Amino acid sequence: MIRERKEMRGEKAIDELLDLVKQQQVFLEMFVRSWIDDYRCSGGATFCGKGCRNCCSLAVHTGFAEALAVARNLDETQGRAVESYAVRLRDLLQGVSELPDYLRLHRQEMGFCPFLTDGGDCGVYPVRPLSCRSLISTRESVWCGADFAQVPPAEREAFVAALDKKVVAFPSHYVAVLQESGKELESAGAKTMRELFGFSLYGNLGVLVHLCRSHDLAKACLTGKDAAVGCIAGAGFDHPLLLNVT
Ligand code: SF4
Repeated sequence: MIRERKEMRGEKAIDELLDLVKQQQVFLEMFVRSWIDDYRCSGGATFCGKGCRNCCSLAVHTGFAEALAVARNLDETQGRAVESYAVRLRDLLQGVSELPDYLRLHRQEMGFCPFLTDGGDCGVYPVRPLSCRSLISTRESVWCGADFAQVPPAEREAFVAALDKKVVAFPSHYVAVLQESGKELESAGAKTMRELFGFSLYGNLGVLVHLCRSHDLAKACLTGKDAAVGCIAGAGFDHPLLLNVT
């Protein structure tokens, strides 16, 4: 009986987190749209749109609740794709300890996000994370997929010189205020998770989704921080570049 009550309280905490995620995603969506409208009215240009997917080769990191929302919306094919992604990434990062190396390897070796469809759409669009929603490009999409180490210096200089420095997160071409807003919402989500669970969990989207789907990470989180850490380690994903429990 006591255990049942505890489980019910736990489910309520999960629901509360998922509700917050939904509200935050709706809020950010509206903010992004109105910001883009205003920017365009003032003569600025943004280039994100349907079928545009070059940013989907970046490593996406999210809070636990956002990943759980994605995990609960996957079909079997997507589940297999995310498992394969997570295992490949885990193996790729053996011996890697620096963030720039992780980001470079991810882009070079992992290809596109496991949720990107063959048609180039986001396969989890209604529940895609805040970090995807807040990444808005002020340059053509070819720049979102560019490996700047390979771009000739003169072209790189011309790219940087043409950036709208009032709005971008310099030297990137993504809109700063929208990224900052996404980060603030993520921080608020982490704070709520700490209040409800006593800890927060943040990390690679595909890895978190895989752990939620195949290793019942949500149940472990309900049990407590030690159980969550044990679940992650037991599945072999206890790598500081992939996941952080704080
Ligand atoms: S979740 Fe969707 S928008 Fe985000 S990287 Fe993956 S495919 Fe792209």
